[in-house]
Amino acid sequence: MGRLKCVIGGCYNRPTSEISLYKFPSQEKDPSLHQTWIRAVKKTRQGWGGPTPGSVICSAHFGDECFKQRTTSSLAQKRVAHNGIPSRKRRTLEPDAIPTVFSVMNIARSPKKRQKTAIPKRKPVCIFHIGP
Ligand SMILES: [Zn+2]
Repeated sequence: MGRLKCVIGGCYNRPTSEISLYKFPSQEKDPSLHQTWIRAVKKTRQGWGGPTPGSVICSAHFGDECFKQRTTSSLAQKRVAHNGIPSRKRRTLEPDAIPTVFSVMNIARSPKKRQKTAIPKRKPVCIFHIGP
């Protein structure tokens, strides 16, 4: 398995206890939602070629209303009490959730596109051997 990385432009989130990664909705099951996710990504990445089976969007781009609120998770609470370690904040995304939160990236990213003008200086390569 390759490493999953959020496809939103400028986002380099990796899965942690706070960040979950979510796969694209199935194009067969929900083509309109699938397209909505693609449009959302294209807002941040022009010329994006579309999702691959490994394409994911991280939880940072979904509002709180996109997640199922587990109010009666007695089982999970029991586990916490048993282990004494707080369980991961595993949040379940609503089936119709749409990524809408991109403000973090817009602030972090400078509006200017940095052009690759700096060409690394090449070291002169000596291909001739001098001497006998
Ligand atoms: Zn992300």
